[in-house]
Amino acid sequence: MSLFELAPDYVRAIAPYQPGKPISELAREMGLDPAGIVKLASNENPLGMSPLARAAVEKEISELARYPDGNGFELKAKIASKFNVGLDRIVLGNGSNDILELIARAFLTPGDSSVYSQYAFAVYPLAVQACGATGIQVRAVDYGHDLEAMRAAIQPSTKIVWIANPNNPTGTLARPGDLIEFLELCPKHVLVVLDEAYTEYLPREKRSDSIAWLSQFPNLIVVRTFSKAYGLAGLRVGFGLASPEVIDVLNRVRQPFNVNSLAQAAASAALDDIEFLRASVRVNNEGMAQLTAAFQRLGLSFIQSWGNFVTFHCGDAQALNRYLLERGVIVRPLAGYNMPHSLRVSIGLAEENARFIEVLDSAMAD
Ligand SMILES: *Cc1c(COP(=O)(O)O)cnc(C)c1O
Repeated sequence: MSLFELAPDYVRAIAPYQPGKPISELAREMGLDPAGIVKLASNENPLGMSPLARAAVEKEISELARYPDGNGFELKAKIASKFNVGLDRIVLGNGSNDILELIARAFLTPGDSSVYSQYAFAVYPLAVQACGATGIQVRAVDYGHDLEAMRAAIQPSTKIVWIANPNNPTGTLARPGDLIEFLELCPKHVLVVLDEAYTEYLPREKRSDSIAWLSQFPNLIVVRTFSKAYGLAGLRVGFGLASPEVIDVLNRVRQPFNVNSLAQAAASAALDDIEFLRASVRVNNEGMAQLTAAFQRLGLSFIQSWGNFVTFHCGDAQALNRYLLERGVIVRPLAGYNMPHSLRVSIGLAEENARFIEVLDSAMAD
C-alpha cells in the first residue's frame, strides 16, 4: 500500500487551491526582470501596507523570540471597540482562510453536508471536502448567489451554508434585505458563514449591517480579513465574529498561537489607519473605472464587481493568459471555477492597470 493511500479517499480527491502565480516564479520561468512584472492576480492591495501597520511591525520585531499572545487580547480589544462586539464573540485566524477551515473542522464530519454557490470562493468546497463532508453546490444566478435556492438546498444533514459577499471571483453582491430574509428562514441549527473579505470597498448604502445581526441570529458567523483593503495579505490575519458558543467551539480547534505577533501588531495598527483605508478605496474605485472603460472600449463583457478585482469574458482565456504572462502581466485564470472563458484581474495602481490594458489592447489587435 502506498503512503498516499493512507490518506482517506476524500483527502486524496482534493484538487489543491491554485494561488496566483508569484512574481518570482514568472520571472524565473520567462527570464523576465521581476521589477517589470505586474501582478494583478491575488486581489492584493496595490498601495502596500498602511504606514501605521509598518511602524507597528518594526517595533514588534525586537520581541520575536517570544511566543505571540495566544489570546490576541490587544487586537481583539481593538476589534471589540471598533465593531461594538464583546470579546467573547471574536476569534482570530491566520488569515480568514484559517477561520473558514476552523469552522469546517469544528462542525463537519463525514455524513454531514454543506451548501455553497456555484462560482463561490474555492476555499469552501475545499474545507468541506477535507472533512469528508458532502458539498452541495447551488446553481448561481447571473454569477451571484441564489439565496432562495440555497435555502431550498439545505438538507437534514446540512450544518453550514457559506455566503461570500461580495463573492470572489465574480464580485457579485447580495442585497442586505435578501440576506436578512435568508437568515430568518434558515433553520436555527444551520450555521451561516457570511464571508465579507471585501466589505470595506463597498459604498455605505450597499453594505450589510451584518455585525448588528449577530445578536438576533446566533447561527451567523461573520468573517473579515486584513488581507485586502488593510493591505496585510502576507502577514496572514483575519477574524470571525459569532455567538460566544460558536467562538468557544472554534477556539478549541485552533492552534494556540495561530496568529503571529507581527500580524497581531500590524492588524491592531491598521484598524486605526482610516486614512490608508480611504486611500485604498479611492484607488480601487478609480482603477475599477479605468479597467471597465477599457473592457467596454474593446467590446469585452465583464461581471459588475463590488470587490477589488473584476472578471471579464474573453473567449480563449488560456491563450490570453499565456499572452499576458509572456509580457509580464499576471492575472488569474478561472478554469478551476469552471469559467474557462474568463479571467479575473485585480485592481492595481493606475500605471499597473495601464500596463495590463496596453497588453490587452495588443492581444486584441494580434
Ligand atoms: C481573499 C479572500 C479571503 C481572505 O483570505 P485571507 O486568508 O484572509 O487572506 C476570504 N474570502 C474571500 C472570498 C476572499 O476572496
